[in-house]
Amino acid sequence: MPIRVLPPDVAAKIAAGEVVERPVSVAKELLENAIDAGADDIQVEIIQGGRRMIRVIDNGCGIAASEVELALTRHATSKLSSAEDLTHIRTLGFRGEALASMAAVSRLTIHTRTADEESATLYRMEGGAPSQRENQARPRGTTVQVENLFFNTPARLKFLKSDATEAGHVARLVSSYALAYPERRFALHHNDRLVLRTTGTGQLFDVIVAIYGLDVAEQMLEVEPREGQAGITVGGYISAPSVHRANRQDATFFVNRRWVQDNSLAYAVTEAYRSLLPAGRYPVLVINIDLPPEEVDVNIHPTKREVRFRQSGEVFGAVQKAVRTTLMAQHPVPNVATPPDWSSSWRHQQMLSRTGPFTAAQTRMAMEIQRTGDVAPLERREPADQPPLTDTMSVARLPMLRVLGQIAQTYIIAEGPGGMYLVDQHAAHERVRYEELRAQHQRAEVVSQELLDPLPVDLTPQQATLLGEHLETLSGYGFEIIPFGRTTFLVKRVPATLVDGDIAGALLEMIDAAMEGGEGFSWEDQALITLSCHTAVRAGQTLSTEEMRDLVRQLERCDLPHTCPHGRPTIVHLSRDQLEKEFGRR
Ligand code: ADP
Ligand code: MG
Repeated sequence: MPIRVLPPDVAAKIAAGEVVERPVSVAKELLENAIDAGADDIQVEIIQGGRRMIRVIDNGCGIAASEVELALTRHATSKLSSAEDLTHIRTLGFRGEALASMAAVSRLTIHTRTADEESATLYRMEGGAPSQRENQARPRGTTVQVENLFFNTPARLKFLKSDATEAGHVARLVSSYALAYPERRFALHHNDRLVLRTTGTGQLFDVIVAIYGLDVAEQMLEVEPREGQAGITVGGYISAPSVHRANRQDATFFVNRRWVQDNSLAYAVTEAYRSLLPAGRYPVLVINIDLPPEEVDVNIHPTKREVRFRQSGEVFGAVQKAVRTTLMAQHPVPNVATPPDWSSSWRHQQMLSRTGPFTAAQTRMAMEIQRTGDVAPLERREPADQPPLTDTMSVARLPMLRVLGQIAQTYIIAEGPGGMYLVDQHAAHERVRYEELRAQHQRAEVVSQELLDPLPVDLTPQQATLLGEHLETLSGYGFEIIPFGRTTFLVKRVPATLVDGDIAGALLEMIDAAMEGGEGFSWEDQALITLSCHTAVRAGQTLSTEEMRDLVRQLERCDLPHTCPHGRPTIVHLSRDQLEKEFGRR
């Protein structure tokens, strides 16, 4: 075939395909235009998941009657005038192609009026061709309505999912922008049913309540915005480790108030939560990253959902640090009366059985003590009754505790300024060991010991492949393991603390975890977790008062004393207030 320049309508459809993939892409462009127009009241309405209709109504600056056609022309924008402007973009839009793209694949109506115009303009296009223009009254602002999306590109239509799925994407989008702009009001209706409304109070917390409900909101910790290196400021809200989800859907990131979906950012945050959440669970968070516009390139993706940082290391570091600092400063000791929702978690049960040292009865007991009601007849307290997060029991470090004794050879009972504390001896020691080992590893000081008799370990081919790839990593933790036949390995040296432990068991545990582990899995961290578990004092072991005191002192010195490396609580608290209530003293 000879080379030909494509007819404009074909070129327009192709270009539209880059920007408009499904109803949520339309909603996104319209919402961004409304925000750029300075609107503080933005209503989104969709019908049948948006395939029938998407309408965004705003009270922004409006488009002058003389510029309406221009706004619908490809590469026509009021937000950019030179290539230089591209290096410091402060608006969400700048490519000038969204309206043109949408108009090419739908029936699009704009109804708009600026503040100093007498009358409003109504302008309609059908598959990219003008079909109607008239004056029709409306207050200042703009309504853009997109109907019959993809009516002339049936291939696209086929890729759309159910109405509920498409509407779900739009709900996620509107929620995200509401989180990014707490000072503006947003509403979303699907098939005339109100899905979301925010009130524009300017408080991010209020938007979090509107989206996630009070229960979750109350367990969110504020990341106080502080300007760090390279003018990077990180703020927002992150969930306490008691709240977690099965996927990363509820991790929302904004860069200069632009919603971005960036895997490396999500990964940076998951790392900051490492060892605080059970395996395969993710936090709920809203993170605002602000930095000078020239530090970030927003022009790398047609729908602008990805960005590139000039100094990405600095940005990820700042995010990680902000999250970590917040967790360490505010993570409360779980309260006996309001335990984290652990017992219902299937993974948790699995994990309990995997940590090994518990007997069935002890496991049951550990679960029960977290389920409160079964241990002590305490009422579940209403949220309003809860002490604020800055109360004595929620400081980053543990308070000084006075050891009183041991219960069921598993829990240390102690008194502190805030009342009574129960420490799970195994979980606590795991945390202590974990931080010790990590420090030793960082200083390359892991003490390794040669086995008198090298230990052969037989594996399945899959296990052998996995282990074979990570011998190097494990050597950093004191293991010397060499291949010994196709699927057998010979263990020659181990970390000194493991010499008398179950060496094969520890190795298998790491390999199993690696097989199960998803994208966030790290051998380094798993090695630390396994070693701390296998070398920690077990439940069911009688401890002397001296040993208990030592353990509690060591726990007090930990960076993150409140959970074991698997994410289970190390300590639960019964406040004096609660005791007094229970005994009818108040
Ligand atoms: P871009 O947002 O990249 O500039 P669009 O095609 O989305 O490109 O919009 C083209 C122009 O139309 C914008 O630059 C803006 O001037 C105008 N416009 C679009 N939507 C609105 C709106 N809701 N309110 C005011 N002006 C708008
Ligand atoms: Mg735009």
